[in-house]
Amino acid sequence: MNKEARAQNGESAEDSDSDLINEQLTGNIHKIAIVPPNFCGKPKKGHLIFDACFECGNLGRVDYISDLEYDLFIRPDTCNARFRIWFNFTVENVKQEQRVIFNIVNFSKSKSLYREGMSPLVKSTSRPKWQRIPAKNVFYYRCPEHKRNYVMSFVFCFDVEDDVYQFSYSFPYSYTKLQNYLQILDNRGLDYYERELLALSVQQRRLDLLTISDSELKQNMQKKRKLVIITARVHPGETPSSYVCQGLIEFLVSPHPIAKVLREHIIFKIIPMLNPDGVYLGNYRFF
Ligand SMILES: [Zn+2]
Repeated sequence: MNKEARAQNGESAEDSDSDLINEQLTGNIHKIAIVPPNFCGKPKKGHLIFDACFECGNLGRVDYISDLEYDLFIRPDTCNARFRIWFNFTVENVKQEQRVIFNIVNFSKSKSLYREGMSPLVKSTSRPKWQRIPAKNVFYYRCPEHKRNYVMSFVFCFDVEDDVYQFSYSFPYSYTKLQNYLQILDNRGLDYYERELLALSVQQRRLDLLTISDSELKQNMQKKRKLVIITARVHPGETPSSYVCQGLIEFLVSPHPIAKVLREHIIFKIIPMLNPDGVYLGNYRFF
């Protein structure tokens, strides 16, 4: 952010306490058009409209720096402002060939895979498959101009005018996606798979407990079987664990000979989503 822009935002270079702003970011932005300062009237094409009011969405605030550059703020975890990592938001009302720099300016983590070549994901209405933004366009650094916060900057060119673009920290895996998958599993009517409601979360979402094992009737009752407990998504931002967990479930219920032997000898207890509220809300680490 340049000096003039900082002044417009009422910030001073001496203002080094970043906790205050993070505590003020309590909700996701909802279809906000970011227009130049002193602009009046209806947003024009190219005045980007940001939105994060959807499941797993996270974006707390956007500041206009120039037509080319925007400062973006992650909305901290619902009950703990110290954690700011996960983001997931949409951008629309773009102009053909519009080039932008997005600075995500309030990361709470010094070490990030963004420093090791990972890059954020993007998809759009006409290309619904997630793709990585080329790593050469992504920069993660400690920024003196942003109160020495960790900042991730990336450049992007919008190429299809009517598309809605979505950007995300990593591949999202929502509470709804899990519920849909478990519904499909239920419908398969497997006799070695069982799903129970372990508890309801604070916000009344399901905590599912799956048991995968050959049923007792088929077993020699004398034989003691080992119990293996698997849990995933205690930290909502760690979405890869959900994909691993779904893959593991898929294997364990499959007709593969190894899966069969495992079901004969082991009782698997799986809690595929330990923190459904945090996942739903788009948090990183906590509820
Ligand atoms: Zn974790």
